[in-house]
Amino acid sequence: MFKLPVYMDNNSTTRTDPRVLEAMMPYFTEKFGNSASRNHAYGWETEEGVDLAREQVASIINASSKEIIFTSGATESNNLAIKGVAAMYKKKGNHIISAVTEHKAVIDTCMRLERDGCTVTFLPVDKYGIVSPQQVADAITDKTIIVSIMAANNEIGTVHPMKEIGAICKAKGVLFHTDATQAVGKIPMDVEDMGIDLLSMTAHKMYGPKGVGALYVRRKDPRVRLDAMLDGGGHERGMRSGTLNVTGIVGMGMAAEICRKELHSESERLLKLRNRLHEGINSKLEDAYLNGHPIHRLPGNLNISFAFVEGEGLMMGIKDVAVSSGSACTSASLEPSYVLKALGLGDELAHSSIRFGLGRFNTEDEVDFVINDVVRAVNHLRDMSPLYEMHRQGIDLKTVQWAAH
Ligand SMILES: *Cc1c(COP(=O)(O)O)cnc(C)c1O
Repeated sequence: MFKLPVYMDNNSTTRTDPRVLEAMMPYFTEKFGNSASRNHAYGWETEEGVDLAREQVASIINASSKEIIFTSGATESNNLAIKGVAAMYKKKGNHIISAVTEHKAVIDTCMRLERDGCTVTFLPVDKYGIVSPQQVADAITDKTIIVSIMAANNEIGTVHPMKEIGAICKAKGVLFHTDATQAVGKIPMDVEDMGIDLLSMTAHKMYGPKGVGALYVRRKDPRVRLDAMLDGGGHERGMRSGTLNVTGIVGMGMAAEICRKELHSESERLLKLRNRLHEGINSKLEDAYLNGHPIHRLPGNLNISFAFVEGEGLMMGIKDVAVSSGSACTSASLEPSYVLKALGLGDELAHSSIRFGLGRFNTEDEVDFVINDVVRAVNHLRDMSPLYEMHRQGIDLKTVQWAAH
């Protein structure tokens, strides 16, 4: 058997791989030096650990280790990339292009810059959550300094055409940043092939520890410069001061190394599990709709809206499954997911969505358990729903004249 609730929320965070933990352990108590200490062996051995991690992280995106800046995570990397460029290139322009479905760490960063005098274009997406390269091309003006488009979406798993967008940015002389937090380690990412100038990532979404991440900053063609956000000792080529989180960095390096070596087999396995989950649900339930792109999506991500059920009830009904919903019922607002709304979903379908995030440690048995549990919960809720009863009787709910109350 397996542990309950079944963890299927790997787009939120992932369990640290035991091999990662093992690599980190010596750096807590034996190799505890400050990697910036140049005068003794304690410093040198931790610096060696950091150097290796830098190679490992660079290698998973085909970068050079000199182009990796370690941070506290993707939120910081996104802030540093966009704010750093906006400050450094303000003589060139003040226009930023992003998209409506970005993570809050990008959207809110852009909105702060807007209050500080930048102009931001948030591009809309199509019904699958994709921004087309043409939209990007059309939005670029002579004031544009940076385009920030995520590689893969954290809610719906939709993967963007990175290479095509990168080519447009290059042709127009605009920097291209991508929040690749969900993509790195899951699908091939190559900063050279894709023309990426800045790339954000985080360890805890790829089976590494929480609180450590990295920003790739291109060093040639073009050499990207950033205004630092933290002043201090000038670590990380002056772009991110502060004593390095050596244990975290070593863990991130090992996490990247494992993902790079196992990416092919792991994505194949996850795709099979996802198809099993999707087909299992579809074969047992009607009116379950896929959100996001059917093909251009992360292998481990499945996002489904269940018509005629209410989001909160559904989450309560599947207590043995740890997933996320498009209903922000835990936060102060009752607003459904802005990402699902951006695809054109109505409030009901957005509220009744579930994001299944399959990961390295999920098994076929868990998938079968989840299928049964979700099907049971949805059927139970629908059995109690008068709307569903009308729908089954063939009444078109859109034409019903509801009495005022
Ligand atoms: C998780 C996530 C982030 C935030 O990463 P942290 O390391 O938790 O700050 C940013 N962007 C995307 C797309 C994410 O999925």
